[in-house]
Amino acid sequence: MSGAAQALPVLVTGAGPAGLTAATELLRRGVPVRCVDRADGPSTLSKALGLWPRTVELIHRVGGRDLLAARALPQSQMRYYSDGKVIADLRYRAATRPLICPQPDIEAVLRANLVRVGGTVEWSTEMLSFEQLGDRVRARLRGPDGSEHEEEFAYLVGADGASSTVRARLGVGFEGSTYELRFVVADVRVDTAFDHRMTHYFCSPRGILVACGLPDGRWRVFTSAPQGVSQDDIDLAAVQRLVDERGPGGIRLSDPDWISVFNVHARHAETTRVDRAFLIGDAAHIHSPAGGQGLNTGMNDAHNLAWKLALVWHGRVEEPLLDTYVSERGEVARAVVRQADVQTRLWLLRKPHQVALRDNALRLASGLRLFDLAYIPWLAGLRTRYRTGTTGGGRAAGFVPGALAPRRLRGELDDLRHTLVVTGAPDRSARELTGWCADRLGEVLDVRTEARRGRPALILVRPDGHVDTIARDARAMRARLTGLFRPLLGAGQESREKKAKAHTA
Ligand SMILES: Cc1cc2nc3c(=O)[nH]c(=O)nc-3n(C[C@H](O)[C@H](O)[C@H](O)COP(=O)(O)OP(=O)(O)OC[C@H]3O[C@@H](n4cnc5c(N)ncnc54)[C@H](O)[C@@H]3O)c2cc1C
Repeated sequence: MSGAAQALPVLVTGAGPAGLTAATELLRRGVPVRCVDRADGPSTLSKALGLWPRTVELIHRVGGRDLLAARALPQSQMRYYSDGKVIADLRYRAATRPLICPQPDIEAVLRANLVRVGGTVEWSTEMLSFEQLGDRVRARLRGPDGSEHEEEFAYLVGADGASSTVRARLGVGFEGSTYELRFVVADVRVDTAFDHRMTHYFCSPRGILVACGLPDGRWRVFTSAPQGVSQDDIDLAAVQRLVDERGPGGIRLSDPDWISVFNVHARHAETTRVDRAFLIGDAAHIHSPAGGQGLNTGMNDAHNLAWKLALVWHGRVEEPLLDTYVSERGEVARAVVRQADVQTRLWLLRKPHQVALRDNALRLASGLRLFDLAYIPWLAGLRTRYRTGTTGGGRAAGFVPGALAPRRLRGELDDLRHTLVVTGAPDRSARELTGWCADRLGEVLDVRTEARRGRPALILVRPDGHVDTIARDARAMRARLTGLFRPLLGAGQESREKKAKAHTA
């Protein structure tokens, strides 16, 4: 990037969960940010409820641990019923347990984290349009007083939700479909004996009813609505009728906080990068709330993009690293949209033979605890495995190429830098490599020695805790580091040569 463009800030459009995360993670990495939102203040709509462990890790890293703990309710399990009978229990372990926390509270924690790192949200500021000028982006903004002006930015991050202006201006398609059925959501008091720490899924040929306990003692109920139903048709009595029809009976609703009717879609953007503009969060993908992944996926998009963008902005790595945001998060988004679609279709089965097949499959998988072993860790965000394309070898010492590093270690690594983990007893070439790293890459890389059994290995862990490369010999790892940090090593080389020349003169 040219020196002038490098000094420009990044524009983050949208201060929902994805935009707040992107702005915070960029600022933490020394990149100036403007975070604008056209709304006149934070949204009070309850919307998303679940924070999965990987997302909680991201929040804790910045410092929102106590604030979040005060607002969230840890869940014990999900329970599926078919026509009133329990057919499956999906249990969490400590590492996979989600927190229930309404979206306004999550966003309050994220805004506190943004402030903690020196950022702020510019409310009532709309991004109207933009043009890409090769080494910068010029955006037209409308400020709180209604005046319009143009400003230049190094990059643009479109975190502006499902009807994204950034996506529309880029002309990027939003492929997929909208379900015929509509859905009704309500946050209410419920008189019931059902366990408040579980999410209950009542499936019946009449429709799906989901009930999830909220931290303040209330419940979120979510149910499919008859076709053609609009917001005007739905009040507490109508929700009560739907709950009576789909639920096990005896669930009394009162005191609604929020009732909303909405369409559910399954869509993703055909690309999430056009030159200097990126799409993250709902701007990049939307899907049914089945699995509670929307907000979580958006925050993880933001994190994945931010650490890469920061390295490029500082001129430490080359631009192609940014393409890995598109491939890595695109694959995750497609998998998330697919699983939400499959789960939603399973919820809505009506034909008796299909219902019997689904229920038997769920019973079997639940009995074998397959959900607890595979599906729940995936929902928790702990099974994401990127095709980094740079892995030199197979697994080593508990590290898997592209996957997250083991949890204990992950918590100890500096998430603002890469880490070279040296396992086993390092030989001479490994010791030389670590010396070279300290000398030439100290600005971006930590070196850590791990006394583990097994063959020695060199493992490069990215700032997001995912394994970039596993190498058995120092030469292969040095080649990877040289390729990745070429601009930094090149600049170092230049300044060393300059110094040498000056010295000789
Ligand atoms: C009923 C419901 C239940 C849900 N349940 C869950 C759940 O359990 N778990 C889960 O993970 N997800 C859930 N979701 C989805 C979740 O709410 C979204 O995925 C999440 O809000 C997306 O975050 P975002 O930051 O990408 O976008 P948003 O939250 O939509 O934020 C976009 C922001 O951009 C601003 N903006 C838009 N255009 C412009 C512009 N041109 N200039 C400036 N600002 C602009 C908007 O004002 C807005 O503040 C649910 C959603 C709904 C509706």
